[in-house]
Amino acid sequence: MTLLDVVIIGGGASGATTAFHLANKNKNVCILEKNYSSPLRSCGGGMSAAVQNWFPFKLMPIVDEVITNVEFSWCNTDKVIAELSGSSPFWIVKREKLDSFLLDQAINSGCKLLTTFNVVNIQKHSNIWQVTALDGRQLESKAVVIADGSQSPWPKTFNLGPKKQKFASTFSGRIKRKGSLKNKTARFEFGLVSNGFAWAFPLKNEVNIGIGTFLDNKNSLPVEEILQSFLPDLGFEPSEVIGKEAMLRVWNGHSNLNGDGILLVGDAASLCDPFLAEGLRPALMSGFEAAKSLIYWLDGNVNYLDEYTKTMRNNWGNSMAWGKRISQVFYRFPKVGYQLGVKRRTAPKRIAQILSGEMSYEDIAKRVIKRLLFQNSSS
Ligand SMILES: Cc1cc2nc3c(=O)[nH]c(=O)nc-3n(C[C@H](O)[C@H](O)[C@H](O)COP(=O)(O)OP(=O)(O)OC[C@H]3O[C@@H](n4cnc5c(N)ncnc54)[C@H](O)[C@@H]3O)c2cc1C
Repeated sequence: MTLLDVVIIGGGASGATTAFHLANKNKNVCILEKNYSSPLRSCGGGMSAAVQNWFPFKLMPIVDEVITNVEFSWCNTDKVIAELSGSSPFWIVKREKLDSFLLDQAINSGCKLLTTFNVVNIQKHSNIWQVTALDGRQLESKAVVIADGSQSPWPKTFNLGPKKQKFASTFSGRIKRKGSLKNKTARFEFGLVSNGFAWAFPLKNEVNIGIGTFLDNKNSLPVEEILQSFLPDLGFEPSEVIGKEAMLRVWNGHSNLNGDGILLVGDAASLCDPFLAEGLRPALMSGFEAAKSLIYWLDGNVNYLDEYTKTMRNNWGNSMAWGKRISQVFYRFPKVGYQLGVKRRTAPKRIAQILSGEMSYEDIAKRVIKRLLFQNSSS
């Protein structure tokens, strides 16, 4: 059996990004994906254009819509519109297109892809990882990247990721026309969903619709009820949506994302934003950073995987720590949050800057603290 450099479990956005960067540096890498082809995934597809920084090829060919305005509402009224300015607009993509585009880039760079490979066992024997599929196929590698999404059992097995995993309840669907959703405008509705929000993101000729709840979400989502109230305002009937519910693992505290020869990326690493469910940017960021650390590690820098955990903490986790605090306060008192947060003169611009990747929650929190300390109302 050939000893691979790296085996990647999961061919979603995070796994494909890791694979591309490793294969691009001539590492012998293989993605193991349990599905046959890229399935329709639960996702709004909203993504900061800042992700372009992590790729040498253009992502624009797979972008369906470039968002220039974000509209917020409370029970379909009290609307606030924020214009997205600056160099980092917000893109809407179809996830199935993004994932297969990234996979193609990885394969063209020399990565192997094994489909219908449902990983059921991962074991380490004298520094060699053995990864086994349900059908008995087995591969061996020097390192393993866990990229199998929100339901991944492996972080617990290897004592990685947050001690307590936290999940958002979500619904995601698509409508095959544009309705009355304004061109280049993403809509966020806060009043109709307890402890969360509903959204409508435009694609070329379709719309991605979604619902997410972030606190106390043990009961099932009242999807029908929310769609009945939300969709007519956009010119749609609830019966037009084809979609499904899913549990999304979200950020829940700083944690160790690597062991010796093993790393977590994307949703398996619990990186998704606990306030706005932004998971694509950290999925791509973690794929890029994981590959960078693995390249040094494979070249003999034996402690280099720890750099991955440190970098993700600095570049993402510190902002998510504030995102979690904001989420807990906002979704507990959403009406007050909407009035004082979203309706504040500069707030829509700040939220838009978070979505476009220009500012982090940490930047915003520091501005607010400074304003409170110096009573300067200009932030
Ligand atoms: C309803 C909803 C809406 C969202 N909207 C947005 C949004 O608008 N913007 C945004 O930035 N993020 C959004 N997200 C989050 C975003 O979709 C995720 O963070 C992102 O998909 C994470 O990518 P991933 O590659 O880590 O995981 P996934 O995309 O889940 O990929 C995991 C892959 O692993 C494979 N796999 C699983 N188990 C095994 C196994 N045992 N063996 C082999 N392969 C396996 C799966 O088949 C899959 O291909 C949303 C999420 C949900 C649920």
